[in-house]
Amino acid sequence: MARITVVISQGQSANPVKRKFEEDLVAALIGERNVEVTVVPHLYDLSVDHTGMLCLQGITGDMIVLSWLYARAAHWTLDRNGIRGQIGTTMLDYEQETDDDEEEKPESETAEGKERVVDSRPLPKRKIYTLDLRVRNTVQPFVDEVRRIVREANTSTVNLLGWIGGQPQAESLERFVNPTRDVAVVSPTPLPTAAPPVNGEPVATTPIRITDDAARRWYPVIDFSRCTNCMECIDFCLFGVYGVDKADTILVEQPDNCRKGCPACSRVCPENAIIFPQHKSPGIAGSENESAGGLKIDLSKLFGAPDSLELAARERDVELVAVGRDAVGMSVGIPKRQPDKDNRPKDELDSLIDALDQMEL
Ligand code: SF4
Ligand code: SF4
Repeated sequence: MARITVVISQGQSANPVKRKFEEDLVAALIGERNVEVTVVPHLYDLSVDHTGMLCLQGITGDMIVLSWLYARAAHWTLDRNGIRGQIGTTMLDYEQETDDDEEEKPESETAEGKERVVDSRPLPKRKIYTLDLRVRNTVQPFVDEVRRIVREANTSTVNLLGWIGGQPQAESLERFVNPTRDVAVVSPTPLPTAAPPVNGEPVATTPIRITDDAARRWYPVIDFSRCTNCMECIDFCLFGVYGVDKADTILVEQPDNCRKGCPACSRVCPENAIIFPQHKSPGIAGSENESAGGLKIDLSKLFGAPDSLELAARERDVELVAVGRDAVGMSVGIPKRQPDKDNRPKDELDSLIDALDQMEL
């Protein structure tokens, strides 16, 4: 049977409870046949040239990634760093959220007929399974899910190094081979990830551990399964975070230009495609079941108070003023779907919404 790599992405804070959980998981998984364990610092904090990210870029086969991030956030963080593959279906879900799956999905998730960026990009056939370590508080369900995935991977006929539909179109591949303004996308550098088999059988290995420090970061991650390449985010952000690649596809070009704590553009994206994985609001952090506006949108409907675009403009103004620039309100980069909104002064209701927002209600 083929080996599969299980990546454990550590928590940011070295919280002892999380560390123990991670180590219990490592201990349980290194005893599993056909599993190779790699431990890296918090995935989101890894720069494209961090040892941990280089190690992950070298894994060419199926991969299971366990992190303290929403599954969607982890998948697209990997994608942004050139670690691409099909989204592997997992059976461990967020217990409290599953009942609402079919209720009031954001329009962007139900709308049909829109072309998504992911539809135009060639992807390796290998699968990347991302699991949020917060979905269960014991190790065993994760071990069981890893076993299930290993069985699934070994019964599929996937060519791990193959591409969907044969060879990718040359022009589509160009953005991978020859990225211009993309500081993140790199050509993968294959690294050995598994010990050679002995007598045809894989042997157990000790986990690979990447211990290099990674400073905390804050930047947007684009979910290309939702993104339509409308460019509203690049028009809105005045800090030079977004750019386009050679194929004129939106990308997060200068992630570290993003203002720490600012989630403004996630509210502007009409497809809820922009994720800030460390934001306290699940809808912004990558939960499948909430829009980026979340409760704030409901409050707006209830009170006729500022909508998510106005809120985004205010958040952007705060960051502009913080770096000594002039506030621009709703006058720059606001999508046309709200052309008549102006930069109105705050009233009491606005202040109430702001206060609720600050409490992350
Ligand atoms: S606003 Fe959203 S959908 Fe439009 S290009 Fe940006 S990420 Fe994609
Ligand atoms: S959160 Fe603010 S600074 Fe960061 S990319 Fe979005 S608009 Fe730009």
